[in-house]
Amino acid sequence: MTTTYGHWTSNLAESVWQNVTSQRTALIEHSSGRSYRYPELKQAAERFAAALRSRLQGPDDVVALVCDNTAEFVVAYHGTLLAGGVVLPLEPLGTSDEWQPVLERCRVAHVVASAKAWRQLSALPAAASLRSAVMLDELSSDDRTIRWHQWLTGPAVDASPAVGDERPALLATSSGSLGLPKQIVLTHRNLVSNLDQIGAVHRLTADDVVLATTPFRHIYGMQMAMNPTLRAGGTLVTVRTPFGVDDLLEVIETRKITVAYLVPSLLAELARCGGTGGRDTSSLRLVYSGGAPLPANVAQSCARVLGVPVVQGYGMTEAGCTFAPADGTPAVPTSIGKALPDTEIRLVDPVTGLDGETGEIWVRGPQVSPGFLGEDGAVHSLTDDERWLHTGDVARCERDGHVTIIGRIKQLIKYKGHQIAPAELESVLLGHPDVADAVVVGAPDEVAGEIPVAFVVLSGPVALSEVSDFVACRVAPYKKIRSITAVDRIPRSAMGKALVHQLNDDGAGGTR
Ligand code: AMP
Repeated sequence: MTTTYGHWTSNLAESVWQNVTSQRTALIEHSSGRSYRYPELKQAAERFAAALRSRLQGPDDVVALVCDNTAEFVVAYHGTLLAGGVVLPLEPLGTSDEWQPVLERCRVAHVVASAKAWRQLSALPAAASLRSAVMLDELSSDDRTIRWHQWLTGPAVDASPAVGDERPALLATSSGSLGLPKQIVLTHRNLVSNLDQIGAVHRLTADDVVLATTPFRHIYGMQMAMNPTLRAGGTLVTVRTPFGVDDLLEVIETRKITVAYLVPSLLAELARCGGTGGRDTSSLRLVYSGGAPLPANVAQSCARVLGVPVVQGYGMTEAGCTFAPADGTPAVPTSIGKALPDTEIRLVDPVTGLDGETGEIWVRGPQVSPGFLGEDGAVHSLTDDERWLHTGDVARCERDGHVTIIGRIKQLIKYKGHQIAPAELESVLLGHPDVADAVVVGAPDEVAGEIPVAFVVLSGPVALSEVSDFVACRVAPYKKIRSITAVDRIPRSAMGKALVHQLNDDGAGGTR
């Protein structure tokens, strides 16, 4: 199906802010109580753009944002785009080992970070190429640093430079189907198209008060919650992590949330609680889940507890949102809805290569990334010769066109909606002098969805807890290995690929 949209704006930030004339509240940071009106946020983004433009050396200068879901993230993100720069969101809890290759590969020129994150970043070899660092709190003695408020004191820029549709807007980190984390290039066209596609089936209005619990740096929080809410002129409510069920019910009641974007692990917790604890959740009209599979019983229990439809969409960093149930259609708990407008889908049998009603989801459409950024700085395609993206997820199409995810043929682990690449943890494990071989797999977990579990072959007298700690201090907290087993050997195919099913069968005998 192809839909032609009447309006086309090439710059994502312009597209988001184009209709914003209202004096309404744009953003509330629930924990701090800080709130911002539309003119204030928009002007701050324009000032950010002006300050950045005076320092841009090239059209593709990359700005790393090391921020949580705060007003500063929104301002720096849209300010960078307005100035013609490229946004690289970084996980604030990332480690030096994780940041170094990313900074190097993306040739980051500017950074927005807290003093604590800056201390960590500036000690990295790749930080030598950084030209300016906008500090969210304290200043450091490094003369590249400038305070946030000082950065925003210049005149605002109200017209963005001509940015071609195909220019990169975002480098989003994804573990991808195979291998180590990659920076996925998403262009202005990819992101604006996807906003249009989402908006065609899932309509937010200026009256919506939208709860964003997932990070804006992830495609789900960014393209389902942050950008659509601002584009609609609604109010975004952000929260601090960790964030549990009590916090969820409290924020819904206090802020009169109408639409909540959640992840399955939080919904599973709510389903276990089985009630609202007396909190008033009657303001809600829709609860949306994404980022990982939502079990049908969890969707049904939460819908009962909250008294509203609980629906799920499906997407991935490489292709944004591709499936979503249309607003107002009856919620089908197992389904991810139908393909979005202007999105071509095939379900391809991974063995025979034939199209059918069950198979790997292949996606083609204007939202699909042109590729990932390689070590050489070039963009390497992720699609086949006919521009199909093979998602690695397996689905079944029901007779009414609704699609249900039934499995995954790629190795990505989803822990509470976060993506974890087994290959990344394996390479950290192999960095331990007493680990001779290692394999990491995802194991089902009631709370987190999946947890990373390691099997290691030890070559020295080391305690397994020491090996886990070795990994824990080298990766972001959500990537920690949750269970580790010593085995005599890791069975591998002739291609060197770990035969995980055999490990599960005869991996016993190891120590947990
Ligand atoms: P990410 O790039 O972090 O958004 O991860 C994308 C992957 O998350 C997809 O390829 C799926 O494996 C998984 N995923 C996202 N949404 C769903 C869903 N509703 N059901 C099942 N898996 C999902």
